[in-house]
Amino acid sequence: MDKKPDFWRNSKRYYDLKSYWRNLFGCNVFKLPIDAGFTCPNRDGKVGWGGCIYCDGRGSKLRQSGTLPSVREQIRRGKAYYKEARQAKKFIAYFQTFTNTYAALDRLKALYDEAFAEDDIIGISVGTRPDCLSDEVISLFTEYAERYHVWIELGLQSIHDRTLSLINRGHDAQCFIDAVERLAGRGINICVHIIVGLPGETRGDVIETAKELSHLPIQGIKIHSLLVLEGTTLGNMFKEGKITLFTKEEYILTVCDILEVLPPQIVIQRLTADGYKDIFLAPAWAINKLDVINNIDQELKRRNSWQGKRYCPA
Ligand code: SF4
Repeated sequence: MDKKPDFWRNSKRYYDLKSYWRNLFGCNVFKLPIDAGFTCPNRDGKVGWGGCIYCDGRGSKLRQSGTLPSVREQIRRGKAYYKEARQAKKFIAYFQTFTNTYAALDRLKALYDEAFAEDDIIGISVGTRPDCLSDEVISLFTEYAERYHVWIELGLQSIHDRTLSLINRGHDAQCFIDAVERLAGRGINICVHIIVGLPGETRGDVIETAKELSHLPIQGIKIHSLLVLEGTTLGNMFKEGKITLFTKEEYILTVCDILEVLPPQIVIQRLTADGYKDIFLAPAWAINKLDVINNIDQELKRRNSWQGKRYCPA
C-alpha cells in the first residue's frame, strides 16, 4: 500500500478507535468497564487451575473494594462521570473482568439485557476466551448484533502453541481460529488481544502472530506489553531470573512491525498496557504509556510507514 488510507480520516499512522467511532457514529463513544462478577474457567479448574502465568486473579478495583454494584449501577456511575467530564452521549457496555461468557445462557442474557436497558447504550463489548463460546451464546450475540453494535474481545496472546502452553492459556491456536470462524459473518465485530514480549518469544515470533491475524476475519486488535506482576507465576519467574523482558526499543519496533502487516481496516484499540501500580514489578518503561505511544508514532514517521504498508492479502 503506497499511501495511508483516506477512510481513516485522521492524522495518525494507524486506524485508532476514536477515529473509528467518529467515522461510524459521528461522535466519540465511551466504553464503560463492567465487572459482572464472573470468574474464569482457567482459574477454577474447568479448563485449568491458577490461570495464565501473568494473571493476578484479583478482578477489577471495584471487586477488590467490596461487594460489586449491579451492572445497572456500574453503567449509571460510568455514564455520569463521562457525561460530566467529556460531554459524552453514546456508550458501549464493556464486560471486561475475567471471562464474560462463563455462565448459563439465561444468566448471561439477563446481565447483557440489563446493560441494553440503560439509556444511551448503543452496544456491548464482551471479553472472553475462545474456548468459552457455545453455539447458544454465539446465537445470542448474533441477535444482539441485529439491533446493537457488538464486539467480542477474544484473548489469544500468541499464535504459537509452545507459547500458549508455556503461559498456561489452556487452549491452543486452533481453538482460537475455530472461535473466529464461528463468530465471523454474523455482524459481530471481533477484537483480538495479543501480548508482545511473552517468555521465549522473539520479535519474529510476534510478527508471525500478527501475520496470521492479518488473514483472519477480525475487525480489531488490542496490543498489550507483557506486564510482570507481584503474586503471579510470571512474577516468580522474573525474580528467579528465568525470563528476559523486551526493552522499550524492542517493544516499539515490534509494535510498528505489527501495524505494518495488519490490514488497514483493523481498528487498533490499544497499543500498550499499564495499570496495576500496587503490584507492578516490570518493565519500568511500561509505566509511561504516553511515552510508549509517542515513540511508536515517531518510529512510524521515521520509517515513513503506517498500518497496512506491508500487508499482504492471502
Ligand atoms: S483467561 Fe484471562 S482471566 Fe482467565 S486466567 Fe487468563 S488472563 Fe486471567
